[in-house]
Amino acid sequence: MRIVLLGPPGAGKGTQAKAISDTLSVVHISSGDLLREHQNNGTDLGKMAREYMQKGLLVPDDVIIGMIQDRIGHSDAENGYVLDGFPRTLEQAHSLDTALNGQGQYIDKVLNIKVSEEELIDRLSGRWICRDCQKPYHSVNSRPQKEGACDECNGELYQREDDTSGAVVKRIQVYAEQTSPLIEYYKGNGNLVEIDGGQSIAEVRKDLLEIIS
Ligand code: AMP
Repeated sequence: MRIVLLGPPGAGKGTQAKAISDTLSVVHISSGDLLREHQNNGTDLGKMAREYMQKGLLVPDDVIIGMIQDRIGHSDAENGYVLDGFPRTLEQAHSLDTALNGQGQYIDKVLNIKVSEEELIDRLSGRWICRDCQKPYHSVNSRPQKEGACDECNGELYQREDDTSGAVVKRIQVYAEQTSPLIEYYKGNGNLVEIDGGQSIAEVRKDLLEIIS
């Protein structure tokens, strides 16, 4: 099964993508995680992407499209995948459709997680993430048992540099301008389902799993 998770930054795409990937046994492909991996490895792509990411801007389409097409071509993606953070522009969506259609494939479901802007700002500016397993925490709503350490793997918790208030506002604006048109695009294809992302993580997961089961 091939799934696209749509939704603004802070909607919980990463958390829910992991649950879907575990349930369906398909690989979770996060464009943001791939870019951060490039940065950690000091690649040219990582260095270039950082300039955009720090400011809350989108990395150029051709770079992202090449990176994702390469990733979905790996053997572990043969049985399907959950795409988290890609596509984010109409050009990216078109390129994905063209690549899939060329192989007689298609996206089975597009799941759009909706969350209010106020809630997004609160979630992102209080977010801490485990460096090792990527589990997210929140400084008020979801604190780790031990300050600064992940409950699951004891990894170090850190704040993403684009979760600072200036970049958060920019990312939400960029989402509204460049990514939200994808909702109409996928509605037109007839495979978009909307989910109330303002609910608890468990409730959102239940809704999502019901839709894909
Ligand atoms: P995320 O981890 O999905 O919130 O992505 C973090 C940042 O990576 C975004 O704010 C963008 O700068 C960049 N990024 C991730 N995915 C894409 C994409 N599909 N297109 C362009 N830029 C992206």
